[in-house]
Amino acid sequence: MSTIRGARRAAAVTALVAVTAMLLGPATANAHFLGGSFPHTPGNWLYIGYTVSGSYQPQQHAAASSWHSTPTRVWVTQEDFSVSEEDYYGYAYNTTWWGLTTMHPCFGSGCVYRWADLQLNTNTLGSETDFIRQKVAAHEFGHGLGLAHATDGTYNSIMRQGYLSYNTPQTHDIDDINSLYPY
Ligand SMILES: [Zn+2]
Repeated sequence: MSTIRGARRAAAVTALVAVTAMLLGPATANAHFLGGSFPHTPGNWLYIGYTVSGSYQPQQHAAASSWHSTPTRVWVTQEDFSVSEEDYYGYAYNTTWWGLTTMHPCFGSGCVYRWADLQLNTNTLGSETDFIRQKVAAHEFGHGLGLAHATDGTYNSIMRQGYLSYNTPQTHDIDDINSLYPY
């Protein structure tokens, strides 16, 4: 397992650069995907294992559960040996962001990745409510599934940045997931 973890860290820098480039790119209406995805065959369940660590673990569990509850092919369970996995890390990062998602071992168009690390920053979320912490946890999980920010229109989406009045995946997010991981 240590070898796998090491390989995942080594890929982090490349993936981070790709995330940054994507977020600075032109915003296109209805372009709600980051370009990669977990491996999935239409008609099958997409089994996502997840792990929790550090701070805000109740919110990490609640966020993972909220994705599991969606009417999609996404099936989320807490474990550490899945083919496809999202791992939460609630720790202090010396930056201004609330959360950050990094895919491994690749990122972007055509990439079929196996893991996503979801960092929740206690430096910035420390002064926020549990409601917002869960929002960020669900938002980052959505990135891990392959969803980009929702920057157009007025529809509800967990992939909107900043403060929201809801903290679970919305209809638009479910539609996007069902497009990315078809029945
Ligand atoms: Zn985001």
